[in-house]
Formats: sequence, C-alpha cells, structure tokens
Amino acid sequence: MRSPTPAIHALGLAALLALPTAHAEERVQVLTSFSILADMVENVGGEHVEVSALVGPDGDAHMYSPRPTDARALAEADLVVFNGMQFEGWMERLVAASDYAGPLVVTTEGVEAPANADPRDHGHHDEHDAHDHSGHDEHGHDEHDHAKHDHDDDHDHDEHDHGAHDHGDQDPHAWQDLAAGKHYVANIRKGLIEADPDNADAYRANAQRYLNEIEALDDEIRTLIGEIPAATSVITGHASFGHFAHAYGLRFLSLQGLSTSAEPSAADMADLIEVIRSQDVRALFHENMTGPALIEQLAEETGLPVAGTLYADALASEGEADTWLGMMRHNAHTLHDALAEPDHDHDDHDHDHDHDHDHDDHGHDQ
Ligand SMILES: [Zn+2]
Repeated sequence: MRSPTPAIHALGLAALLALPTAHAEERVQVLTSFSILADMVENVGGEHVEVSALVGPDGDAHMYSPRPTDARALAEADLVVFNGMQFEGWMERLVAASDYAGPLVVTTEGVEAPANADPRDHGHHDEHDAHDHSGHDEHGHDEHDHAKHDHDDDHDHDEHDHGAHDHGDQDPHAWQDLAAGKHYVANIRKGLIEADPDNADAYRANAQRYLNEIEALDDEIRTLIGEIPAATSVITGHASFGHFAHAYGLRFLSLQGLSTSAEPSAADMADLIEVIRSQDVRALFHENMTGPALIEQLAEETGLPVAGTLYADALASEGEADTWLGMMRHNAHTLHDALAEPDHDHDDHDHDHDHDHDHDDHGHDQ
C-alpha cells in the first residue's frame, strides 16, 4: 500500500483532515539508515511496520552518499531510525537538511560510551607514523592503533580493550555487543510507541520476546568465545569489533580505523605486519561489506590463513546472517571454528595424551 503522505504534504493540513480513515489501517513507514537497524525494527514492529534501509545488505554505511530519492523517502517516513555516534554522519545531515519533523530514534542513545572518547583525531594515520613502538612489550595489544590513539597515558582499560573502540574515537559499532543491542531495541520500542501509540502493547510484547532471544544468544556467544584462548588475536578489515571484544573477548586488530573511509597507507600495512609477527595472531577474516584486497595482501605477506567472513556493518543478503541475531551467531561460530582449542590449557605439555597425565608433571601450571 502506498502512503498518501506526499499528497498530504502537498495539500496541507486541510487535506489531511479531509481524509477520514485512510491513515488508521496503514502500517507505520519506518526509514532506517542501514540493514541491521531495519531488521531490529522489523522484529519490534512486526506486522504494524513497513521498514526500509537506505544502505542495504552487504553495503558499507560509512561510505554512503545519499541520493535525491533518499530525501523523498525521508519526507514520507513516519519514523526515522539511525545509529548515531558518527557511524553514518550523512544520515544526520540528511535529517537536519530536511523538514522531517516526526520522531527520530538514535539507537545508541544510552549505550555506554567507551572510555576516553575523543572525536578529534578520527582516522588520522599520518600523525602517528612516528608512533613509539617501545611500549609494545608492556602493552602487548595497542600496536595496531595507528588510526586513533593519544590515549595510552590516561585510560585504564581492561584486558579486552585492545580493539579500537577506546582509542580516541567513540566506536559506533555497538550492535556488535548484544547487551548494548538491548538499548537499541528499547530505543526502537520507544520510537514506535511515539509514532503509533495505538499499537503500543504489540510493540512492548514484540520487544520483550526479542530481548529474551537476545539474552539467550548472548549466553551462547559467551560460551563459544570462551573456548578460544584469551590471548588470541585476529585481523579484520576495519575496527568494527571493539564492542564485540569488550563484551566477549579476543583481540581484534585491523588495518583501517573505526571507519572505512581512510585508505591505509603502506606504512600502516608495514606496521600491522610487524605487529602480526610479534603477537599471537592466528587468523585473518574478511568482512562482508568491504573488498577482500587488503586482507588478501596481508595473508600473502604474513602466511596467515583467511579463516572466513565476519559480518561487520551490514547483514548478509541471504543465508543465516541475514538478520542481526543471525549474523552475530554466524560471527561467533566462525571465530570459534577457526580458533577454539578446548584443551589449550595443556598445550605446554608435549607428553603423549594416550595415557593419563602424570600429576607431578602437570601441577606446575595449575
Ligand atoms: Zn564500520
């Protein structure tokens, strides 16, 4: 069903009042910036919403430029949903430049900002070509942050904060942590209720069911990642997995920073190769919404395997990763299958596992 809203906009309030019941039966038109949010809205909105995403499956929302038709879609929307935290700055500018006056949902509202957020040095690799590598031994995990730093001195990160999210910018990829994703769902629920109060009960019930599913999957992912040795590092295309690392573990290093917009330099590549050689980096992963060239080049130069594709900033167009929860599950299984070592506690031992462990031999590392 096509919305009559353009006509309403053209004719003004008098026309709206003259259209008695047409609106009551209509589904809420929700415009989202990218595919992951569209799936969340579909889950909370159910049959009462019609959802579209400006950047679809396998699309890179960092690099998107709005088209004239997007402004038109915005004008027809009853509810607009975007991530915020500068993930898709073009969306914020698109909304600001329009006369859209309906409800806006910023899904990251309420998500805890990573420590030491500093939006100033986003993606400036060059300042750090002279980055002091002497600190590597004590930090062990911050060598890759040539895209965003200035913060080694004053943040008290925990052992999982080796991703990029605490390095100078807010990491906007908060959907990679299911607990943060619960804020997304709550914000979407609130926006739908504001846009369509008549169906508030349905939105509350859908959201609750969804939140239960999210919690169950959170446990599942924790178990899977828990079977991977804690010091394991992996390489992805850009720094999309800081929230994942913070929530679930592992170390994610990347060539590109929090956005895909800055091309890595030859020096960045050389730096990362050096880091790979000095750390327990086990595998490289493609990400679904950017090209494979950089990861393939790294694989060639380091001899590390490319162990699969992780869904970073977009859903898959088909298959198990075509929903947010599906892509999170896919990522956890892909990482687990490549990296888990159920008996890694014993890999210092070179004795034959055919017979029982000798207790004297084995007590030293317990
Ligand atoms: Zn990203």
